[in-house]
Amino acid sequence: MHVLKFGGTSVGGVDAFAQVVEIVRRAADGQAQAAKPGAVVVTSAMSGVTNTLIHAAKQAAKGDEAPYQQAQETLLVKHQQVASHFIQDGQERAALGRLFEERLTEFRRLCGSIAVLGELTARGLDVVSGLGERLSAPLLAAVLRGQGIAAEFVDAGELVITDGIFGGAEPLMAPTTERCQARLLPLLAKGIVPVITGFVGSSAEGIPTTLGRGGSDYSAAIIGAALDADEIQIWTDVNGVLTADPRVVPNARSLNQLTYEEVSELAYYGAKVLHPKTVTPAIEKQIPLRVLNTFEPEHPGTRIVQRAEVGSHGAVKAVTSIRDMNLITVAGRGMMGVPGIAARTFQSVARVGANVLMISQSSSEQSICFVVPEADAAGVMSELQQEFGRELERHYIDEVVSDDQIVIVAIVGSGMKGVPGLAAGIFNALAQHGINVIAIAQGSSEANISVVLAEGDATTAVRSIHDAFELYKPTEERAQLGNRVP
Ligand code: ASP
Ligand code: MG
Repeated sequence: MHVLKFGGTSVGGVDAFAQVVEIVRRAADGQAQAAKPGAVVVTSAMSGVTNTLIHAAKQAAKGDEAPYQQAQETLLVKHQQVASHFIQDGQERAALGRLFEERLTEFRRLCGSIAVLGELTARGLDVVSGLGERLSAPLLAAVLRGQGIAAEFVDAGELVITDGIFGGAEPLMAPTTERCQARLLPLLAKGIVPVITGFVGSSAEGIPTTLGRGGSDYSAAIIGAALDADEIQIWTDVNGVLTADPRVVPNARSLNQLTYEEVSELAYYGAKVLHPKTVTPAIEKQIPLRVLNTFEPEHPGTRIVQRAEVGSHGAVKAVTSIRDMNLITVAGRGMMGVPGIAARTFQSVARVGANVLMISQSSSEQSICFVVPEADAAGVMSELQQEFGRELERHYIDEVVSDDQIVIVAIVGSGMKGVPGLAAGIFNALAQHGINVIAIAQGSSEANISVVLAEGDATTAVRSIHDAFELYKPTEERAQLGNRVP
């Protein structure tokens, strides 16, 4: 049994749908005789739709009703175009047309009430933002049927049961597993392809939730784990996971294989490959993940597995950067040996709900620095100034400062564990280009080393590290690290 997830661009329009039809046809045929038979499809909204919905709802809350009124029309046309291209059957077309109208009327009503209230709650936003998948999934199911593939739309609200954290819900695996098996296995046994909405779920009380932006990957992994699938395929618009962002590094190449650990590190550090939580359900059930290209389906893409099969020449897998960061430093000679400064620092950060991406403390204990998204920096700063008001006054702490225009460059690879000289290789590459390293951190997993740099150095840094570790070559062809790094 394979679970196939299609991202927004994979269902972006007529041409993309045509590709998807053939990919699903092949999967359904290929899996028909498997020990655990069947193919399950999970889909995102058509590209751009979720953004349109969210924008319209936010504008409505501000009293601007034009965006949702326009969106209702453009979204209808966008989906109808695909429907009329692929679906000949009159009844099927009419039914789908009614469904579109229903969903879009709901959208209009929701945005209307948001405008009246002048307020958009997290709960309301989840209902609106999930509508894109509730349009694309029934459309894809009908398109597949129109092309002779037995398929049935299933709403993930029936399957993925979550907690009640709107905007980033977590699945409750026990009820989710029960629901997925009860609803999907009978379809698979009949050779029917279930076509399921990504991104959305519902709380135990039946209130619609979403798994967070980009959450359809996570949906596929949750459903794959619930069904104990043989493989989870993430179909996107690039040839798997690349060694770097190809817009930054033109000779970036696709990786044959990555570990779960590596892909999570990459996702965490901003590589737009997979939703960061996707690997969790897959790891638990040891289900291999594959990232594949809808527009080049013959390309093997990237296989994501428990353990990599290459040695130390493949120690570094990829380099990525995450921009719009802010480096906050709490410094002072009086901090030395004073317990509790770190705890109070991070309690303050937690109070404003900021996400800390990296922490570094010098061993002299004279400063702690950490990186938060730029958007959270002002809040964190004022909280820290309040927390340490007395210490600042008495000069136990000399200063709390924030540096903007900061970038984190993360070098990722599980094989970096215990390989000496790796950090030297990174710093050499940076030094050769005159790049100043502001702070460094290495996770104890040793699967990543991150360096904090000035934003302006990001591109050169990523390129030079990519070059230094020969990431433009296939993993097997790179020199052993020990031989190359001084
Ligand atoms: N449509 C949702 C989003 O744009 C979920 C996804 O595409 O994975 O965030
Ligand atoms: Mg996506």
